[in-house]
This record gives sequence, C-alpha cells and structure tokens, in this order.
Amino acid sequence: MGRQRARELRVGGRDIVSLTTGEPDFDTPEHVKEAAIRAMAEGQTKYTDPGGTPELKEAIRGKLRHENALQYAQDEIVVSTGAKQVVFNAIMSTVEEGDEVIVPAPYWVSYPDVARLAGGAPVFVDCPGEAAFKLLPEALERAITPRTKWLVINAPNNPSGAFYTREELKALTDVLMRHPQVALMSDDIYEHIRYDGREFVTALQVEPRLRDRTLVVNGVSKAYAMTGWRIGYGAGPAALIKAMIKLQSQSTSNPCSISQAASIAALTGPQGSVRENTRIFEQRRDRVFDLLNAIPGLSAHRPEGAFYAFPSCKTFLGKRTPKGRTIETSDDFVMHLLESQNLAALPGSVYGVEGYFRLSVAASTSELEEGCARIARACAELE
Ligand code: PLP
Repeated sequence: MGRQRARELRVGGRDIVSLTTGEPDFDTPEHVKEAAIRAMAEGQTKYTDPGGTPELKEAIRGKLRHENALQYAQDEIVVSTGAKQVVFNAIMSTVEEGDEVIVPAPYWVSYPDVARLAGGAPVFVDCPGEAAFKLLPEALERAITPRTKWLVINAPNNPSGAFYTREELKALTDVLMRHPQVALMSDDIYEHIRYDGREFVTALQVEPRLRDRTLVVNGVSKAYAMTGWRIGYGAGPAALIKAMIKLQSQSTSNPCSISQAASIAALTGPQGSVRENTRIFEQRRDRVFDLLNAIPGLSAHRPEGAFYAFPSCKTFLGKRTPKGRTIETSDDFVMHLLESQNLAALPGSVYGVEGYFRLSVAASTSELEEGCARIARACAELE
C-alpha cells in the first residue's frame, strides 16, 4: 500500500513527498506539556480508575456542556486510549454475530474492521461525490434492517471533509426515530477542524430523543495536536458506558495517567492554538484546492472540514502510463504517482470508494505545492 511503499522508497534514498499523514503537523501546546510535567512531578504516575479520572471526566462534561449543549453525568463518560479504543470498545461490547453496522462510505477504516472483528457485518452506504460525500436519508432508510445495531456518522469526515448542516442531520435523525433498534455512533473527532465559519452541530443536539441510544465519540488527538498522547472519550447511556469500561478494565485498563492530566489542560486551558491551527489548515486547503483543480483531468471538491483533500481521479482510469501499464483503479493511480514522481498519497479504495485519492494537508505549504506539482506531472504522463 502507498504509505508503506513510500517509507521503503524513502529508506532507499528516494526524494519522497508524502501527503499521507493522518495527524496535525503542529506540536502539542506548551501549557499542555507543562501540565504533563507537573503531573509527573506530583506523582500522578499510578493506576487511575479504569474508565478515566474523575477530574478529566469533569473537564469532558464541561466541554460537552459548553461546546455541544449536552449534559452528561460522570457515569455516562469513559476515557480511553484514543478515540479508536472508544469505537473498538463500543462495537465489541454490543455487536453480536450477524449484527449489522451501517458505515457510510467513504469511511475511516476502523469502523468496518472492528465490526467484522466483533462478528458483525458492515453495511456500506455510498455517499457519492456528487452529493458532497454526504449520507442521504433515503439511502440510510434503505440500508436499515431488523439486524441493524449501529449507524456510524463521522463529520467532519475522514477522508472527504463532509460536514452536515443542522437540517441535513435532522433528516437523518428523523429516519433513526422510525427505527428504535438502531444506535448512533457520532464520531466528532474533527469537530474543531472546520472551515468557512461553519457551525458544528452533533446529531444529538438536533434530536435529543436519541440520547438513550447515542454514543458521542471525541478526543484530544486532532484538535490539540495530541495524537501520540492517546486520549479519546465517549459519552453515552450509563449501561453502554459501563460495558465499555468493563471491557477496558480487562484489556488495557486506564489510559495513561499523565496523558489524562495533560488532556484536562487541553480541554480547560487556552483554546487559541485550536483556532490558529485550523486557520492554517484552511489556508492550505484553499491552496491545495486551487492547485488540484488547475490540473487538467483532475477535480476536487472543497472540503468543509478535517485536514484532507479527496480529489477524483476518475478521468484517468483506463489511461496508460509511459511504461504501458493501464490505470484501472485508484490503487494503480496512487502507485503511478509514487513510481513516476515520488509522491505518496492514499487510494480511495482504503476508504471504501473507487476513483478518488486522499491527500493530507497536514504538511507545509511548500511540501503541498511541490506535491501538487508532482501530481500535475504524473497526470500529464497518462494517455
Ligand atoms: N476517528 C476518525 C474518523 C479518525 O480519522 C481517527 C484517526 O485517524 C480516529 C477516530 C482516532 O483518533 P485517536 O487518535 O483519538 O484514536
């Protein structure tokens, strides 16, 4: 796959530009690091409650109240080793053999993989590029069966940047109101990385009656440039949270005590870095959008959030490389970018859709400009 091959080539001395990163290229804010150092100095180096410290849960409650107008009690919150573990624990503790998990495509790959691991079946619903990669209520309605356990909504979306308005979410939650067996997992991890002054709303704000079957997933990784600290959290009904904590207490137990202390500082301290980083991501998004759309044959929509571009390479499918190889899939296309121009990107197939590829804008402007120049040269070679 693209990322691994890029690493091999780089080790081999090739001048690779990699636009595959799934994490902010900024550093964790100083006040967060200082809180971690203080926590160590004060001896916060022991086991904590398996589901997270009361202090961090309090900070999460405050965050959900102020930013999302959601009220949760301590026993309705779990802190885990990244949002990934929240998703994992939720699915593993609820999905049984044959249960279905609706995953709108394009998607972050962990949802279907964890659903399968739990013995369930992912049900993919196509969210076409023509509809800005959004899940449409009719498509959701068609996908629901008596075996549907979860619908996963991730917005802003990895990889497409899709973002829902209040009205669009209402149309989706109206469908869920007709199907009481379906729980909603709202992965809000990219909440703060949104553009053009958009307001963020999570589905539960739009339809509070879904509270007893909604799990809000979030974390500090993307908003605070803290991917390595591994702190995510979930908020949902007490019975679900209890089951998730039980699973966690017998697997990894508590997330890192020092990271938990740092996350309190992230959630309750100055928020300037979040706004500043998003402003930089937005400038890069605009630059990349202009550069990609100037490449003959390529078309990209303007992502509304998250830090990726997801352009279409459909017009190049069926074309031939100078070596005579036919580009049949998005995998072939990104392999051509790598082999011909040393540019690493990820194919749409990784995210469950063909004819697209993902570029991360978590790279410097000069890297992004160089990357787009290489894509232009690679595309010009195809005939
Ligand atoms: N959800 C989505 C959509 C993601 O893209 C990612 C990370 O790439 C995660 C969750 C996981 O985040 P964390 O680092 O908190 O485990």
